[in-house]
Amino acid sequence: MSVRTAVAAPAGLGEDACHELARHLAWSLEGVTACGFESKTGSLWFVTEKPLDQADLMQAADDRGRAIQAFPSRRLASFTKHPSPAYENVEDLLRERGDLKPVGPTTLALGGTAALLATRLERMMKTEAAKLGADEWLLPSLMFTQDLARSGYLRDFPHQANLVCHLPGQPEDVKLAASQIISGSEIPSRLSSALAPTVCYRLFTTLADSVVEPELMVQSASAKCFRHEGAAGAGLDRLGEFSMREIVAIGKPEAVSDFRDTLLALSGRLLQATRLHSWIESASDPFFTDVWEKGRLFQMGFDLKAELRVRVAGRAESLAVGSVNHHRDHFGLAFNIRDSTGDPVHSCCVGFGIERWTLAVLSHFGPEPGDWPEILQEA
Ligand SMILES: [Zn+2]
Repeated sequence: MSVRTAVAAPAGLGEDACHELARHLAWSLEGVTACGFESKTGSLWFVTEKPLDQADLMQAADDRGRAIQAFPSRRLASFTKHPSPAYENVEDLLRERGDLKPVGPTTLALGGTAALLATRLERMMKTEAAKLGADEWLLPSLMFTQDLARSGYLRDFPHQANLVCHLPGQPEDVKLAASQIISGSEIPSRLSSALAPTVCYRLFTTLADSVVEPELMVQSASAKCFRHEGAAGAGLDRLGEFSMREIVAIGKPEAVSDFRDTLLALSGRLLQATRLHSWIESASDPFFTDVWEKGRLFQMGFDLKAELRVRVAGRAESLAVGSVNHHRDHFGLAFNIRDSTGDPVHSCCVGFGIERWTLAVLSHFGPEPGDWPEILQEA
């Protein structure tokens, strides 16, 4: 039996913040199978196996809500003159056509039109990375769990980490372990490998414990990224495995800071060229545990994260299709990457989520390639 519990969202929070708040609260509650925000009634709702304590839930929502309101986001650029998207059920249409197929937990295989569009978007972004002088890398999906810990990800986003466990032991043990899995019982796991959640961590790992001589080094790669999305995962907008094109700059503080502006300008140009109803706003990864306050204050204080947000047809919540992040010396310190004077390097990156851009373009222009913006006609 599942139970639905709803509480009023804290007053004064924007639509996007309320959706994010619902998703975040779901992480800290047990056995949530679905969650959301209903703007008509202004309520956050959760579906669980066992009933939730309404007073506790209300308290948690208020606490988070107050903290969010203390740091409103700012709009840095606007492309809202572009017409609003109108293709409301485009994802369902692609599923019906067989262009989107679930092949594993929170994953989708893209075929037909979806594959064509995702490929063209990725090619457009790769071209831009090359224009910025980025060295192209091909990256593996696996990294050492130790490197993931080093990056700070296991501290800040442990709920989204994916560790890979191999079947332990010699052939006989492996067979036994496999049969235990098949029969549904627990197996001991060796968790030395992790699926990478971002592209840039892997690029930093290639530079760990080294000295970067140039003022600025620019690298780029497109790779699969993995984030456990729990009950929230499903569609093109929230996949457990997704593709991301990143451009990363590493070097002296001033050069990195300037390059961050270059990445913001590039982001604006791409939103403009793909004619999406969108904007860029300062943002943060506000919602986790104790580092929440400190991390967010830090990010807001230095304006370290900007999100590219797009309207999607039929949804009140906008969708982040990318972000520009200024890490300052965080990864220089974490991975012991130094400049020629021995100081930790600074870094910044832009990440474009390919499947989310795909959804955004489909939502604006529909599934017919001939209707897509010019830049995607033959990119
Ligand atoms: Zn990055």
